[in-house]
Amino acid sequence: MFSSAPAPDSAQKPGTAPKRVALLGGTFDPIHHGHLRTALEIRDLLAVDQLNLIPCYQPVHRGAPHCSSEQRMEMVRLAVADEPGLVADDRELRRNAPSYSVDTLKECRQEWGPQASLTMIMGMDAFLLLHTWHRWEEILGLANLLVVQRPGWALQADHPIYTWARDFIRPDPACLKNSACGVISLHEQTPLDISSTHIRALITAGRSARYLLPDPVWNYVCKRQLYRTETEEICKLSN
Ligand code: ATP
Repeated sequence: MFSSAPAPDSAQKPGTAPKRVALLGGTFDPIHHGHLRTALEIRDLLAVDQLNLIPCYQPVHRGAPHCSSEQRMEMVRLAVADEPGLVADDRELRRNAPSYSVDTLKECRQEWGPQASLTMIMGMDAFLLLHTWHRWEEILGLANLLVVQRPGWALQADHPIYTWARDFIRPDPACLKNSACGVISLHEQTPLDISSTHIRALITAGRSARYLLPDPVWNYVCKRQLYRTETEEICKLSN
């Protein structure tokens, strides 16, 4: 099913610098410019060797995705095709089981070795729910966390996740570069109030979602009539 698995990178070789990798997981139903702007800004901010976008197989905290795993994966591939350093990573889809981030991070840690700087990226909306995730306390032992500001979401001092996180938070995200794991930082990125939910709602309402997501992804949505059968007509109008 997923034949084009990324070639496993080897763990650190003697005499080479530890790898610096960032991971952005999500449903990507569909992937949009909010995800991509986040990925690009963090690729440059942390000067990572690679930033992997990892669609989840079956999200644990929400209903089934609207598109198949293959379709979501293909949209991620199309979205990153021309962007150096961004990698479409199908590891969670190949697992064919509910997607637990802690398992993904363990796999990544094994792949890149104990010295690698591994940073998991998440939007503020996801971070505020971290304490509801499966074995969430293990996550910081496996990776750093870089939390991206997202319009409409803020970390309040009385939130349970703040009480836990405050000892690990460092103000300058650059310090994640040379830390293997255990550090949390916040990234004030260009705010883009785009969500997959909004894109799906637009399409279902018969409106165009163009310019909220890359054209190759929008064209794929149109061709496959994803999210709504009338999509083809919207595309004809907007192209
Ligand atoms: P949905 O609307 O279906 O819930 P979504 O747009 O939130 O989808 P996901 O695939 O669930 O997208 O998000 C994956 C990750 O990207 C999450 O950590 C989420 O917080 C983050 N993210 C999504 N959209 C944005 C955005 N516009 N700006 C910053 N972070 C984002």
